[in-house]
Amino acid sequence: MARTAGADVVIIGGGGAALRAALAAADRGASVLLLEKGRLGKAGVTALSCSDRMAFHATLAHTEPGGPDAWRYHAEDIYRIGGRVSDASLAKALAKGAAEAFHYLEKLGVPFARRPDGLADQFITDGSKYARACYTGPHTANDIHAALLGEFLRRRLPVLENTMAADLALDAEGRVGGVRTAAGRLVPALAVILATGGAGQAYEVNVFPEGMTGDGYAMAWRAGAELVNMEFIQIGLSSTKTKLACSGSMMRCWPRLVTQDDREFLFDYFPPGTPHEHVYAVLFRKGASWPVSREEPSHLIDIAVFSEMRKGRTVFMDFSRNPRGLDLRKMDPALWSRFEGMRAPALLEPPLRDSPLARLKAINAPSVRWLKERGIDLEAGDRIELAPACQHFQGGVKINELAAASVPGLFACGEAAGGQHGANRPGGNALMDSQVMGRIAGQSAADFANFTRTFPHGRPRPRRADAPAARGKAADVREVRAQIQHLMSMYASVKRTAEGIRDGSAELAAIRRQPWKAAAADREFLAETRSIAQVAELVLAACGARTESRGPHLYFDSPDSTAPLPRRDPEWRKYNVLVRAKGGKTIVEAREPAGPDWELVQNIDA
Ligand SMILES: Cc1cc2nc3c(=O)[nH]c(=O)nc-3n(C[C@H](O)[C@H](O)[C@H](O)COP(=O)(O)OP(=O)(O)OC[C@H]3O[C@@H](n4cnc5c(N)ncnc54)[C@H](O)[C@@H]3O)c2cc1C
Repeated sequence: MARTAGADVVIIGGGGAALRAALAAADRGASVLLLEKGRLGKAGVTALSCSDRMAFHATLAHTEPGGPDAWRYHAEDIYRIGGRVSDASLAKALAKGAAEAFHYLEKLGVPFARRPDGLADQFITDGSKYARACYTGPHTANDIHAALLGEFLRRRLPVLENTMAADLALDAEGRVGGVRTAAGRLVPALAVILATGGAGQAYEVNVFPEGMTGDGYAMAWRAGAELVNMEFIQIGLSSTKTKLACSGSMMRCWPRLVTQDDREFLFDYFPPGTPHEHVYAVLFRKGASWPVSREEPSHLIDIAVFSEMRKGRTVFMDFSRNPRGLDLRKMDPALWSRFEGMRAPALLEPPLRDSPLARLKAINAPSVRWLKERGIDLEAGDRIELAPACQHFQGGVKINELAAASVPGLFACGEAAGGQHGANRPGGNALMDSQVMGRIAGQSAADFANFTRTFPHGRPRPRRADAPAARGKAADVREVRAQIQHLMSMYASVKRTAEGIRDGSAELAAIRRQPWKAAAADREFLAETRSIAQVAELVLAACGARTESRGPHLYFDSPDSTAPLPRRDPEWRKYNVLVRAKGGKTIVEAREPAGPDWELVQNIDA
């Protein structure tokens, strides 16, 4: 196999986690090489994705509740809000490392918003108790990426762009010794860091950029690494046309949720006779908890939308008039009084009283403009087509506090890694994680490379995908991908059932048994689709093993049920670790995560 000059530490990916890892490894004196399948700054979530206000969590000297224990509150929140299915040791590493990560980015020039006293402004995000979210605005992630990339380029660190990593190469002792690219070249390394991000493209509806196909999960799996928490995927209602997460202000101004024939369906999902105020209070709360979560009663809204779609209907958000029976005078003012622009008496008088659009303009006028620029003119009566979309993978390649995976020489960080977040991930912790664990992965990989120089690798050989015996007529790989995305959105999205997981797994197995055909220009698309198929298998296996509901994993006893099964504590305070047995068989092991090793400052059972 042709070889390319390698490095002590090869980092796969070019997002926020990868760049931070490369800088940290270089600081430790290692030679580094980044492999990015797209172009730097033009690929991945950190460089490209945005939302109404993107959050970066950090516990700083002035962050509430303040004092020397502030990091403990943060670590306990990650672990507790996560549903106690993550490693508390990793939560501690995140909470303790967040301030350093923030100040590093600040030094690189990320323009974080300031309060009048000059300190970083912080707000409360989905699921959090304290205001820890630093931000620059809708483009926080992009600003972070630009600053890191600027530093990476300034230091002239080497990168191979448009180079897709396809597999890890292991030596005879099972240590990672390099990477095989999709073009078939071997890139030797003493240590490899996976920073390949999540696998949003495994779902039909997602808010990820193109190319986010979970290659890192699939490569790690083929190399024998353990993965964890793959059933916990952040899913929330989004605009299918613009990929905008329809959260916060959009739900708080009480739009109508209707099907294509203008039927308001929410009441069908509440017991007969439920007062209007109750239904609309739940709708309002969806604005404060965008991702599906068993722990938030507003998951009923996601279930309602998903169930309508399963019946073949299209669902829209309509801002043109009030939903049926909404009487703001009967709503509890405690719900909305703290939102600027929506305070009584204005809210109880026209135009705010009578129009969701007037309310949206009062609390988030830029969103109306943003949508108009993208072809949805709410003022002209356009409606927003909605669907549950995949936004983040909480799980991934299982790491320890050194960001090391279970295969020697392999490290992971950012969204490619798992075990640091639980079932729910409070908004802001993913970007922070990419920086804290990115730094740790870079340092650990450099140390490992240094050690390995003394005990050299044997000749590395790439682990290739097991090619299942293909039978029948060849299917076009583009159709294959669409079929897998569809089955994931049917069976591993908002509603999960034993029957659905069985059907989904059987459909997936049939798709994988078929031969796939691809045009020569589609070689990478084919490799990515293999990754998606592998990710689908892992997610379905993890979903099938968790026979309770927790976080975004809503498990039902029948496909027609609208009431998820309860969360089962303490029996299910375990995470599902996926282990690859001989012959490529997937084994799911429920294990107890590491609990807190510090004196608790909160009740973590609450
Ligand atoms: C719309 C949206 C809004 C979000 N909002 C927030 C928020 O407000 N706060 C928060 O904390 N988190 C948020 N997140 C999540 C967070 O932004 C991501 O988890 C984080 O940016 C991931 O960083 P990363 O470096 O791990 O991956 P990415 O930035 O996605 O980078 C991965 C890189 O790896 C490359 N790559 C992949 N496979 C290969 C391969 N085989 N070979 C070579 N290169 C490869 C990709 O091209 C890409 O450049 C949001 C996510 C989305 C989609």
